[in-house]
Amino acid sequence: MIAYFPEPYQDELAYSLFARYYMRSGFATVRDVMAELYVNRWYRADTLFFNKLLPEAVEIMTKHMTIKQFVEKHTMFPYYARFIEQDRRKRALESLINMDGNYHNLLPIPKGKSGRFLRYCPMCVKEDREKYGETFWHRAHQMDGINICSRHACRLIDSGVPIGVKQSSGLESAEQAVRDADIIYLYDSREKEMAEYVTAVFWSDMNYTNDKVGTFLRGKIDEKYVSANGIVNKITELYKGYTEYFSSIPDHMDLQRFQKIYNGYRWNSYEICQLALLEGITAKELVSFKTSDEEIMEETYRKISQEYNIDYYTVAAIGKTILNDYYRKSRVQKKSGIQMHKWEQMDLEILPQVQQLIEWVNNNLEERPVKICAYWACRQLKITTKQMDNLPRCKAEIKKYKESQEHYWAREIIWAVNQVDNAGIELCWKKVRELTNIRKHNYVAALSYVKEMTDTTKYERIRQLI
Ligand SMILES: [Zn+2]
Repeated sequence: MIAYFPEPYQDELAYSLFARYYMRSGFATVRDVMAELYVNRWYRADTLFFNKLLPEAVEIMTKHMTIKQFVEKHTMFPYYARFIEQDRRKRALESLINMDGNYHNLLPIPKGKSGRFLRYCPMCVKEDREKYGETFWHRAHQMDGINICSRHACRLIDSGVPIGVKQSSGLESAEQAVRDADIIYLYDSREKEMAEYVTAVFWSDMNYTNDKVGTFLRGKIDEKYVSANGIVNKITELYKGYTEYFSSIPDHMDLQRFQKIYNGYRWNSYEICQLALLEGITAKELVSFKTSDEEIMEETYRKISQEYNIDYYTVAAIGKTILNDYYRKSRVQKKSGIQMHKWEQMDLEILPQVQQLIEWVNNNLEERPVKICAYWACRQLKITTKQMDNLPRCKAEIKKYKESQEHYWAREIIWAVNQVDNAGIELCWKKVRELTNIRKHNYVAALSYVKEMTDTTKYERIRQLI
């Protein structure tokens, strides 16, 4: 039973919360505490996200927030997911909520980078201890690219706790892992500006409706780099401006990466924030950007125009014609969509009638057997076979009872024999023939089924009739 589970601090990593629980739980080994939290006690603890939790652990975690909030506020999800394609962003969130582990494939988390450790700010440690009596792992200290604390502007310090599922094993709390360290205030004003900007973006609420940040950023490029039809024709000059702006920060993108962001092939939070900062976009604007369909289409026209060296206005004219034509068609499709909906409803409504009908004929031993087929059902339900074609559920139900002609004849023969027996009349071929209208060679063909459907005595009587 999980007892005295700590409340998460603001911006605390889920890993930190579990580590603090371990510290105060009194468990002898980390495996014992993991057995209580995780579905597998041999998991390597995920430092930036969290492993598959037991239902009881989920219940405790979600006492004061939803699991979605837990993902958004206590893992690195916003850092890696914020700018990726909308669909991927939603799927990554689902994956984390469902704890299926697939988020690793969906989020652009730098892989294979060994030597990365959870970091801390010595000033934050001091403050946390004063305020809460202990410190914890802050999410904002774990953003790749940012090496200073945005609040105190001092250098972040590597702990000995490795990041990444492959390296980590235990649950080490920050309180145990941090060492006394010198506070180093060696930073550049641009670096500080970036740290504040990236943190503000990271802490903002997630948005799942916007898409194409590259197109958005491209739309904000200073006019002097852009030609009359919107093509960025001075990309090297633009890039030069970028390297100059961030010249005091050692790591910046090469020209290729720089272009990839504008073209929508890179989604790195840090790099996107750099470009946004360069373009004078506020953090608030960046997290709530919107790209209209028109802007996205214009972007596509520009790409085609450049790629095939065709005049932009020609490409745009062709594109608009195709789109108009397509929308006209989709309007027609919409209409048929309503029609589809009607069929769907009819299918669901008629299905119970079909089932009832089949049950009734199969249980009614007095009446002559019925061969269950779509044609028969249509006649009973008073609908056309063409209408039946639009009712997949009903069709499938009928198909379940599909039988060969010989099988059906066998049922007819047995029914006829029962009729004769019940009437107390002597059984003879002529009587059966009268009731079933069956030909002799068909009667013979049905015998193997009769054998399966009835007892030996009756079968012998039937077989000997001809
Ligand atoms: Zn700090």
